[in-house]
Amino acid sequence: MKKASVNKDLCIGCGACQEIAKGIFEIDDDGLAKVVCETVEKDKEEDVIDAAEGCPTSAIVVKEDN
Ligand code: SF4
Repeated sequence: MKKASVNKDLCIGCGACQEIAKGIFEIDDDGLAKVVCETVEKDKEEDVIDAAEGCPTSAIVVKEDN
């Protein structure tokens, strides 16, 4: 399984990740993305990788969760 995280120092709050990987990322009260479901289920992995690749500031980190 994979684990997603957002580096808020890099995030600009564009909202793309929230659209690409619904239910994993969400725009927080501070206007920046947060991870709502840290451990990514298999069926969402592709969306999370797409979101990470599509993030304009490379703020999303996806790691193997062993
Ligand atoms: Fe932030 Fe990147 Fe998500 Fe945009 S796509 S809200 S910059 S983490």
